[in-house]
Formats: sequence, C-alpha cells, structure tokens
Amino acid sequence: MCKENAGGTPGRDVPGGQARYFQYRIGVVPEWCRFAHIRHSGTGLRFQSWCDQMFRAVEVEDCAAPNGVVAGLPDAVAECTDCFVRFAFRQSPGSTSGEEQGLIPARIDTPGQMTSAMQILQRELRDEVGRLPHGEIDPGRLGKLAAEAEQFSRALRRFGWLASCGR
Ligand SMILES: [Zn+2]
Repeated sequence: MCKENAGGTPGRDVPGGQARYFQYRIGVVPEWCRFAHIRHSGTGLRFQSWCDQMFRAVEVEDCAAPNGVVAGLPDAVAECTDCFVRFAFRQSPGSTSGEEQGLIPARIDTPGQMTSAMQILQRELRDEVGRLPHGEIDPGRLGKLAAEAEQFSRALRRFGWLASCGR
C-alpha cells in the first residue's frame, strides 16, 4: 500500500544528520533502476542526491533506508551505493577528484539518462566529424573526448548489466 506523500516538503540539508532516503515513484522508471538515494540539497521542486544526480520532486517519494522499515514510508527498492559511500565520508557532490567534469555522468541509472548521455556523445562525435577532415586536430580536445567515451563505456556496461538483472 503506497501512502500518498505530501510532496511539497522543502529539501533540508542536515549536516551530520540522518540520511533522508528517496526513490523514484512506481512507474516513473523501470523497477530495476528505482535506487534509494540520499538527499543532499535542493529546493522544493528539484534536489540533488549525494551521488550527484538531480531529481524532480514530483517524480520521487521519500522511502525507508535500505534494509530498514519506517512506518508510513515505502520500503527502499535498491540501495544507491554511491550515495551511501559519499554520505558516509561526507564527500560532497561535485567535489570528486580534481578532474574537470565532463558532460557525461559517471553514473547512469535510467533509460532517460542513458538516452541523453548517448545524445551528448553523438553530438560531440559529430562535432569532431566536422573538424577532422579540415585538419583541425586538437590533442587536448580529443583526450577529453576519449575520457568521456571511456566514462560512457563503463556506464553503458553497468546499465546493460542492471537492466538484464532486473528482467
Ligand atoms: Zn545516489
């Protein structure tokens, strides 16, 4: 039985406080990508998880901690281990490594996110297709593209594996 959530509660950042878990509501994404994330910051309409993803408040619901039970809250479907680790070590989103962040996220959970990552990569490849024939070869830019492609490949393998486990 899924209780209706009030929904409009503004996001609170509770330093050193309890983790507040949330997950996509039933039907928003396939069941295998309904991870329970931990809320990091945000406003009433959009907020950010510790694993550095943005969520629309209307698409998610508060839930119990993974392997926990809270009266009145739905159970967590699956734990987001990235959130768990970053919350445990208080490693804020965006503060990961010194490297400049590309457009392709390291973690891609849902078909919608995968589609937009594919479109980003497509666009970047198309840009190069327009440059290379004219001799515009910039090793720095190509290196960045290679890093993005590698990140994408890892995310794509994980995504395929997740989807196959969920069926
Ligand atoms: Zn997460």
